[in-house]
Amino acid sequence: MLPVASLSRTNLIACEICLKEIPHDLAISQEGVEYVQYFCGIECYSKWDAEQSDLPEGNADNN
Ligand SMILES: [Zn+2]
Repeated sequence: MLPVASLSRTNLIACEICLKEIPHDLAISQEGVEYVQYFCGIECYSKWDAEQSDLPEGNADNN
């Protein structure tokens, strides 16, 4: 029996911000309300996170 190549188990996903394709295993995932978003690294995640906090959601608890 041939060993199953580990590469065949590697799902590529696209980063939510830069759209770079990265292995699912290495992605940072963020569970959203309806689906999971993936980021290639903390940089893109931070960008996304900053955008989220910019959105006006009627949440003014910061003061
Ligand atoms: Zn990215």
